[in-house]
Amino acid sequence: MDALIERAAKDITSAKYVAALTGAGISVESGIPPFRGKGGVWEKIDPSYAEINRFMRDPADVWRVLIKEMKDLIDRAKPNNGHKGLAKLEEMGILKTVITQNVDGLHQMAGNTDVIEFHGSFARLQCMMCDKTCHSREVDLSEIPPRCECGGIYRPDIIFFGEIIPPETLRRSGDIASQCDVMLVVGTSAIVQPAATMPIIAKQSGAKVIEINPERTPLTGSISDYLIMGKAGEVMNGIISVISDR
Ligand code: NAD
Repeated sequence: MDALIERAAKDITSAKYVAALTGAGISVESGIPPFRGKGGVWEKIDPSYAEINRFMRDPADVWRVLIKEMKDLIDRAKPNNGHKGLAKLEEMGILKTVITQNVDGLHQMAGNTDVIEFHGSFARLQCMMCDKTCHSREVDLSEIPPRCECGGIYRPDIIFFGEIIPPETLRRSGDIASQCDVMLVVGTSAIVQPAATMPIIAKQSGAKVIEINPERTPLTGSISDYLIMGKAGEVMNGIISVISDR
């Protein structure tokens, strides 16, 4: 692993434009479980809870079973060395943008300033009746489902399975993927589309694609140049210390 960390530090520092694509795995060391794999949410909850049709059919049930639990974990979570490492790379003037599939706000809390929230954020809620939006901190979540003054039910401002990614988000992410010369792909199973297409666009546009994940993914061995097999926090820590020592 050390040799690959050295290699990544070299690739990152010789690049002109570094971008990152992150997924649920980067927040595991902050206490937020991923959806898939060992310890993942789908071991306990049926994945259909993340589908828009199920939410529309019975928002109270989805709020109770999935959203409330995730939100409680997110509210307690703090950025770990994975998030901090990416923030440090931005501070060093190396990393430009983080495209994240996460809805937990931890990249911004760590200090990254250009974060594309590909799947939205739990930090915002929207009334399904009058469309009013607000910060989830302003809403009483002891009543489930939470309601707006107009009586409408609030939904989290996230993209459920079966919903489309806002065109501007997709356009900007695609532009970044085609312009970067290194893409760090951290903690994503690279299964959820269209986010999983971003490393493919990067690769086809000539970028190096570096994966950080304790497991192989469909990108490994084909799209990614190499996989640093390990936890995001440990690997990012290693990369930052090699770069800082140079
Ligand atoms: P995923 O659940 O499909 O996969 C998680 C990946 O993280 C796996 O490849 C796993 O091997 C890897 N992983 C596990 N522990 C890790 C660690 N310590 N360091 C690095 N990698 C680790 O996640 P996904 O690909 O992001 O897609 C699922 C969707 O679920 C996302 O689109 C996201 O919207 C949503 N989600 C978000 C959060 C969050 O905001 N924190 C949490 C769960 C799910």
